[in-house]
Amino acid sequence: MLYLNPPEDLADELPGEPGFRVAQLHEWLYDHPTESTGQWSNFPKTLRDRLSTRLWPFTVEIEQTADRGTTVKWLFRTPDGVSIETVLMGYPNRVTLCVSSQAGCAMACTFCATGQFGFDRHLEAGEIVAQVAFANAFIRAGRMSGVPGRNEAQPSRVTNVVFMGMGEPLANYRRVRESLRRMNEVMGIGARSITVSTVGVVPGIRLLADEPWQVGLAISLHAADDALRSKLVPLNERYPLAEVEAAAAYYFEKKGRRVSIEWTMMNGVNDSQDQAGKLAEIALRLGAHVNLINLNPTPLSSERPSHNRTLQRFKSTLEHRGVTATKRETRGQEIDAACGQLRVRASN
Ligand code: SF4
Repeated sequence: MLYLNPPEDLADELPGEPGFRVAQLHEWLYDHPTESTGQWSNFPKTLRDRLSTRLWPFTVEIEQTADRGTTVKWLFRTPDGVSIETVLMGYPNRVTLCVSSQAGCAMACTFCATGQFGFDRHLEAGEIVAQVAFANAFIRAGRMSGVPGRNEAQPSRVTNVVFMGMGEPLANYRRVRESLRRMNEVMGIGARSITVSTVGVVPGIRLLADEPWQVGLAISLHAADDALRSKLVPLNERYPLAEVEAAAAYYFEKKGRRVSIEWTMMNGVNDSQDQAGKLAEIALRLGAHVNLINLNPTPLSSERPSHNRTLQRFKSTLEHRGVTATKRETRGQEIDAACGQLRVRASN
C-alpha cells in the first residue's frame, strides 16, 4: 500500500521506473492527492492501473455528511477488517480533520462508544496520514460544500489536525510520532495546527514534550478528583491526576504553549459546582484553557448530556475564577460524530 511505505522509500513501489516518476508519485500522494489514480495524468495508463488498488490502505464503508455539507464523517475498513473513523469539519477560515490513531481503544472510558468496543490494533503511521490525504483528495474533488462565508481565501485542504478520533494516540507513540513528522515535514501542516489529545498517558506526554514540534496538547480530564476520575477514566488508577498535571506542566514548560483541558459534560456526573471549583484550580495552576463538550450520547452508555443551564453555570463558575472556557460546538450530531459511534451503527 502506497501510504504505508515511508515517503522516503517510494522508489520501492516503482521498480525500474525513472527517478522523476518517484517524485511525481510523491506529489500525487502528499501534495495533490486524488481519490483515484485515474487522475494521475502524467502517469502511463498501465502504471495507473497497476497502482490503483494500492492507493488507499482502506475502503470507504460509510460516508455521511451533516451541517449542510460542512461536516463529513467516514468509516473506513482496512484489508484486515478493522474500522477507522475520521471526521472532516469545514469552517470559513480553516478545515479541521479529526483522525483516529488506533482501531478501537483499550482505555475503556465509560462514556465513550469506542472504549466499550475494546482494542483491535494500533494504526500504522501511514494509515493515520492516509486519513489526511483522503480528506484532501475529497476537498480537491470539490465534494465539500456549504461552508458559510466560503470564499476564495478559504483553505482548499486540511489546515488543522486533531488526534481526537478513535484511540489513545500516546498509547501508540512511535507510529503517532512518525505520522506527526510526515504531516508536518512532508505534507506541510504547521505543527502548531496539530493537536494531540490524551486521556493522560503520562510517559507519552513527557516524550512528546521533548520532541521538536510545537504541537498542541489537549488533556481529556473529565473529572477533577481521583475518586470520580477513576470511575470515568480507568487509566487514572495508573496515572492519577497529580501525575497527569505534573506532566502537563512539563509540556507547558518545554513548549511554551498552554495546554487545553477537555471536559465532556455528563448530566449529574461531573457537572456539579464542586467539580467546577476543583477544575478551576487545576486550570489556573496550569494556565490551561478549558473546552467544555456536551456529551454526544451513545447507546452503549447510560450517561447523558448536561442540561444547557447546568453547562452555562459550570462555565460561568470557571470564568468567575479567572479560567478561560469555551463551549465547544458539537458538529455532526445527526451523523454520530462522536468517536466510535459510526462503528456502533455499522455493527448493528
Ligand atoms: S475517550 Fe478516548 S481514550 Fe477514552 S476510550 Fe474513548 S477513544 Fe479511548
